[in-house]
Amino acid sequence: MTACRTRNLWFVVGVGLSLGAPTTRAQPNPEWIRVAVVRQDAQADLQIHGRFTIRALHTGDPIQEGRRLPPVVVKALPEGIAVGEAVLPFFGVRIEPASDSTISLNGRRLRGAVEIVRQNNLTLLVVNHVALEDYLRGVLSKEAPDYWPDEALRAIAIAARTYALSQRLSKASADYDVTGDVMSQDYGGKTGEKANTTRAVKATRGWIVTYQGRVFPTFYHSTCGGLTEHARVMGPFDLQPLRGGMACTFCSASPFYRWQRRLTRADVGWALRNSPHGSVGAVSDVQVTRRDDTGRVEQVTVTGSQRVLRLTGIDARALFGFDRIRSLAFSITPLGEAFLLDGRGWGHGVGLCQWGTAELARRGFSAPEILAVYYPGCTLVQLKDHPSW
Ligand SMILES: [Zn+2]
Repeated sequence: MTACRTRNLWFVVGVGLSLGAPTTRAQPNPEWIRVAVVRQDAQADLQIHGRFTIRALHTGDPIQEGRRLPPVVVKALPEGIAVGEAVLPFFGVRIEPASDSTISLNGRRLRGAVEIVRQNNLTLLVVNHVALEDYLRGVLSKEAPDYWPDEALRAIAIAARTYALSQRLSKASADYDVTGDVMSQDYGGKTGEKANTTRAVKATRGWIVTYQGRVFPTFYHSTCGGLTEHARVMGPFDLQPLRGGMACTFCSASPFYRWQRRLTRADVGWALRNSPHGSVGAVSDVQVTRRDDTGRVEQVTVTGSQRVLRLTGIDARALFGFDRIRSLAFSITPLGEAFLLDGRGWGHGVGLCQWGTAELARRGFSAPEILAVYYPGCTLVQLKDHPSW
C-alpha cells in the first residue's frame, strides 16, 4: 500500500505533492484502452497516413502491408470486409500503423491501432486500441473547454481517466471498454486534441481517484444547477461520496445553471404520437408527479383526451431531446396553450460538476482540492503503483 493511498486528498495536497513531477512523467504507462468508435454502421470511411500492416484478427497473420492508404470505404459484406475494391475474407482485421503513421476513420484521426469486425447483422464494429493517456487527450478536449483554468482541466483529466478505468472494470461489453461518444465520454481522437487539455492530461499522468482501495466511478457532468444528485440514478451505486445532496452554487456562471423551455400542447402530442409511447389524444395537462430526494423529476404524467400516460423523468428527457431538456431538475407551469419548463443544470448531476470545477479553480483551488470537494473521502493514487488495474 502506498503512502498516498491511506491519505485523503487534502493530506496529499498538504504534503506538497505536485502533479506533473518529473518522476511521474518518466514512468511509461502500460495501460491501453479499447474505444468503440463505430458500433452499428454498414460502412465507414478509412484512410491511413503512412505505413501500415493489416492483420487477420483471429490469427494475427499479416494480410497486407502498404506505404499509405488513400481514402476508401470499408463495408461489411457476407463474405468478409471490403476495404475499397479489395474484399478481405475475414470476419475481423486489425490495422496497425507504423509509429509515425495515423489512421483516419470517418474523418477523425486516431492514435493507436484499429480493429474492424464484421458483425452478424452486416454492420461494422470498429474499436480503437489506444494508450490510455492518448485516449484521454482526445477526451478532455471534447469534455472541457480548453480555455478553462489549468487546475480545472487537471481535475477533469483525473476524473476522466478514472471514469474510463471504472468503465473497463465494469466489463459492460466484452468487445470494448468504452464508447467514443457521450454514452461513455466524448472522444475526438487526435483530431480534437488541443494544447491546453493535452498539457493537463500529461501533468496528471497516471493519477486516479480511489475509494476504500478501489477504482472509484468518477461520474461527472456539466452543471449541477445547485445540488448534486445521488448515483443510484446511474445504476446500482451506493457509495458514500456519491450520495448527492451537496449544495454547489459554484456553477452559477454556467449558461445552463438556469434554463427554460416552452412546450406547446401540440408539441407534446406530436412527440408522443411519433414515439413508442404512442398517442394520448389531445393533450390537456402535463405535470411532474414524483421527485427524488434532490428534487429531480422521477415521473411526469401526461393527461390526454384518450388516456393518461406516466413517463419516467429520463423518458421525458429522451422524448423531447436531452439537449432541449437539459436536466431532470425542472418544474412545469401551464401557460395558455403551452407548458413552461423551468430548469436547473445540464446533465445527470452525479459527482463532479464541471462548471463548479472551473469556478473553484478560479478561486485558487488545486485539482486535488477540487476532487476532494466533489468526491469527499476519496484518495488520489498513481496507476503505476497498481499495475493489476
Ligand atoms: Zn454545480
